[in-house]
Amino acid sequence: MKNGTVKMILALVAIAVVAVGGGSLYAQRNYKETVVLGPGVTRVTMLSEYFDGIKGTAADTKVFILEGDEPGGGVLMFGGAHACEPSGIVAAVVAIESMDVTKGKVVVIPHINRSASTTTQASGGFPLYYNIETNFGPRKFRMGDRNTSAVDQWPDPEIQFHYPTGQSQSYVEARNANRCFPGNANGNLTEQACYAVMQLVEKEGLDIVIDMHEAELFYPVTNCIVAPDKSMNIASFALLSAPFEIVTFRSPQLARGFSHREIGDPVTGDPDAYPFLFEAPEPFLDQPTGPKTEKLLLDGKDEFLGKLGDLGLLFCPYDPEEGKSIDLRVGRHFTTATLIIEEWSYTYEDKQISFTAPSFEEIMANGLKNYFLDPAAAGAQIEEM
Ligand SMILES: [Zn+2]
Repeated sequence: MKNGTVKMILALVAIAVVAVGGGSLYAQRNYKETVVLGPGVTRVTMLSEYFDGIKGTAADTKVFILEGDEPGGGVLMFGGAHACEPSGIVAAVVAIESMDVTKGKVVVIPHINRSASTTTQASGGFPLYYNIETNFGPRKFRMGDRNTSAVDQWPDPEIQFHYPTGQSQSYVEARNANRCFPGNANGNLTEQACYAVMQLVEKEGLDIVIDMHEAELFYPVTNCIVAPDKSMNIASFALLSAPFEIVTFRSPQLARGFSHREIGDPVTGDPDAYPFLFEAPEPFLDQPTGPKTEKLLLDGKDEFLGKLGDLGLLFCPYDPEEGKSIDLRVGRHFTTATLIIEEWSYTYEDKQISFTAPSFEEIMANGLKNYFLDPAAAGAQIEEM
């Protein structure tokens, strides 16, 4: 075979590899997740309504508002600050489909960093999607990354300087939504998204902000609520009623950019807001595990992590036969949120928020699948995100 022919064949093979690999990434980036509007949803808008600097960008994201007939307090519940931590995103969808609010306002954002949900950690062997079983067939979600997609925000700086304090951070935090609060209208895309969230909190007059995450069991800050001093009484009383083990961590004063550090700060944030961050234990995120499969993501069963548990190296009780299922992790987030809101309403009678929502016991007994609505039902109102 001639040299030119060999080169041509090699070039075609290279193009085919790039097309096949790139095609699946392109499809994942553009895949739209389905949400059915539950009986409590009164309005759907975009985050850019609160800051038009992100309009038309990958950071713009759907905002679901559930408002009761009676005036009261307000809460923002969001998932997806780290889009590789699915239970916060799924808990937000369960809130949209199953919560009904009679007093006050519940604002829900499943993907606070939507750009991060449009890419995944291919080099970490992450799946591109995960499917949640429902009574009406599987509901397919994009498996995201921890940070804003480099397609949307690039290049990274040598050093990231937190706005507005100027604290120096690792370069990669420039794309980490949970290091960029309170955001910056003139900053990078991640900072602009955080700025839009702060604008939403102020314009909607919200009292509580709940940021739902997942963490490794091999990492000390897991299975917990992280809260600044101002939120700690509410967090502590709420977890006394929790039907599962959960602890509190104090928000570090010296490290900047976290939602729990900045959102309620009297100088950098909104002095009227009380932030809380939840961490559910997620075996998939731990490094010493088997392959990063969709199954591990959903059932949390891993024998290698079990060995670490036997050695007393995990920061959370763990039985590899039982795992940490998505039902458990979503149930925990959803219930911790409802306990915080109930404790808030008990403490601040003039800013009560009243609602109906499934309990932890109901979710665990009936299965998470029971708390999604049928997208194909007559009259079902669908949103894509
Ligand atoms: Zn996180």
